[in-house]
Amino acid sequence: KRLKEGLSKTKQGITGKVDELLKSYKKIDEALFEELEEILITSDIGVKTTMEIIDGLRDKIKEKKVSEPEQVKELLKEALIEILQRLPDAQVNIEPGPAIVLVVGVNGVGKTTSIGKMAHRFKQDGKKVLLAAGDTFRAAASEQLEIWAQRVGVEVVKHQEGSDPAAVIFDAIQAAKARKVDVLICDTAGRLHNKKNLMNELGKVFKVVDREYGEATKEVLLVLDATTGQNAIQQAKTFKEVANITGLILTKLDGTAKGGVVIGISQELTIPVKLIGVGEKMEDLQQFNATDFVKALFG
Ligand code: GDP
Repeated sequence: KRLKEGLSKTKQGITGKVDELLKSYKKIDEALFEELEEILITSDIGVKTTMEIIDGLRDKIKEKKVSEPEQVKELLKEALIEILQRLPDAQVNIEPGPAIVLVVGVNGVGKTTSIGKMAHRFKQDGKKVLLAAGDTFRAAASEQLEIWAQRVGVEVVKHQEGSDPAAVIFDAIQAAKARKVDVLICDTAGRLHNKKNLMNELGKVFKVVDREYGEATKEVLLVLDATTGQNAIQQAKTFKEVANITGLILTKLDGTAKGGVVIGISQELTIPVKLIGVGEKMEDLQQFNATDFVKALFG
């Protein structure tokens, strides 16, 4: 239900328009395909993926001898699910424990919020969770993280503002081992001045993790703000060059009609979307599932 509510703007944006379009046509012709293409592209599904969908639809329509425009909707649904399922394993992998989840992304995308929500999810699943305040450049970042930790009922390892992020992660790993934590979730600094700077900051953290916690199951999740469209894709490309990103968290899907970006981004980057943010509350982080997502969009 939350997913449906959270995606209501996108639903209106894509499905509303598709419905209208299909109703306005008596038969399936070239003009219909062109208008459909336009709708998909403007919802940020991406040009390449849209072309692929349209070509696939053409073939299916011929093969199944479909003639009614309204039947196209079901085929479109199937095509979207198929494309989304091409990317492997949408689960955040924390088994076998202990696990470490490094969360990266630029400031303001919803990193802290997503960490809080994720901690809540894991805790609900019966896991012992610890947070690491690895963004030491902004005092507000660790304060925010502490507020979330209290809300969720988990502990945080933090240092003073301006201290070395890698030192925080080092301490957090020792604490995680001593306290037999199942999942350690680490915030990282999101200062994206340039690639070299990012590489330096994250590189040190990754080194500590590999050296001190090499046995832990590891995820590196990149948080992207869905409302920023092409900008998000650009950020992702930069992060992909400096880190081995294992999955994406797309936030603020409730704030955009262009939720098609979930499809566009994952296809363009060939990195699976693992979690989606559909609101500001603790429960508003959902595991991404292609079928549920497309069903929520198409009802
Ligand atoms: P950070 O700087 O990346 O750590 O960003 P924050 O976690 O502080 O989030 C920035 C703002 O985005 C906050 O006001 C959050 O409440 C809001 N936010 C984060 N995720 C979502 C989401 O999925 N939906 C909505 N509507 N707001 C979100």
